Amino acid sequence: MKNVYLDNNATTRVADEVIEAMMPFLTEFYGNASSMHSFGGRMRHKIDTARAQVAELIHCDPSEIIFTSCGTESDNTAIRGALARCPDKRHIITTRVEHPAVQTTVRQLQKQGYRLTELPVDSLGRLDLEQLAETIDEDTALVTIMYANNETGVVFPIDRIAALVKQNGSLFHTDAVQAVGKLPIDLSRIPIDLMSISGHKLHGPKGVGVLYVRRGTSVAPQLVGGHQESGRRAGTENVPGIVAMGKACELARTYMNEENERVRQMRDRLETSILKRCPNARINGDADSRLPNTTNISFEYIEGEAILLLLDQLGIDASSGSACTSGSLEPSHVLRAMGIPFTAVHGSIRFSLSRYNTDEEIDYVIDHVPNIINRLRQISPFTPQKDATTAAPQDRTPGL
Ligand code: PLP
Repeated sequence: MKNVYLDNNATTRVADEVIEAMMPFLTEFYGNASSMHSFGGRMRHKIDTARAQVAELIHCDPSEIIFTSCGTESDNTAIRGALARCPDKRHIITTRVEHPAVQTTVRQLQKQGYRLTELPVDSLGRLDLEQLAETIDEDTALVTIMYANNETGVVFPIDRIAALVKQNGSLFHTDAVQAVGKLPIDLSRIPIDLMSISGHKLHGPKGVGVLYVRRGTSVAPQLVGGHQESGRRAGTENVPGIVAMGKACELARTYMNEENERVRQMRDRLETSILKRCPNARINGDADSRLPNTTNISFEYIEGEAILLLLDQLGIDASSGSACTSGSLEPSHVLRAMGIPFTAVHGSIRFSLSRYNTDEEIDYVIDHVPNIINRLRQISPFTPQKDATTAAPQDRTPGL
């Protein structure tokens, strides 16, 4: 059976070049980068190279890069570490559509006494920047707003948001886990203070992440012990992971422009064909400001899990809601925040592509999805009376 992997927002295939770059550090060069001897010490300049590769992708200084273990650690460190450094301010602003790595952290802090504002989004998943401006006050320590949404792919106008937050004197953190490697990001032009990145979302391995900390921003370390990462994150350096992260960033910089357009074309073709051939399907999220690789489609009146199961039998990997929260049958908090009707939230599927997908794979998915939807609609107790195959075009709600 063929395997068509369309779940790249959950995790990505590690690029061959990345494996090649990290392999010697798992086998031959296994020294501890903090050791005094030269066998270990030789690793230090490999870490420096990786730091420079990351910095080059996002246009910052290498000294502003801290290596972590994942996006979740970067988010936790950014939020908790920044707040610890401004104990007099007790207000946090975020959105209702953040990844659990941010949402759970700020809600925990709320329980510990912080005042938390979770900004709403509209039906396309967009924020109201005027509302954001009105919400910031002199007690606001931190604003944390994601760059791009993992479920819908909606991209927030982070340049305008960052400028607005800085004008109002607060710190600004963005969870850019889904954006880095998919969108050009220039930190020399956007006044972001703190930014989280994860290796496994950009064809690097699991177990490595990055926290960008703008020079002059103070963040209390959340892992204490040794003096690694200039005292900002203790723990023996994950040299293979760090080398891999550097290589993945270098590849992202090389491929981004060339491959993004191809990925976008495949995503658009998949989306358009599905909407044309499946009645009562709608796209979730702002089509004008979305990651090029993501589409989130609601097939009304059927269960997303049933669709996933049938796709899985055909070797097609997709996701319903966030992979990180799978195992729970709770409907997506992101789609609920957008006010998507209950009947559509439950039938939502996220397809997320990468540069490794091909046109043939997309043809295969286009060929099979309409049959799956039709089969499920015929047995669904919720389907409106009309025969799904003969629905009039006006009954098709593209939601674009
Ligand atoms: N933030 C976003 C937007 C994500 O999509 C994810 C993972 O899905 C994370 C944070 C967590 O990253 P990691 O899996 O590296 O901990």
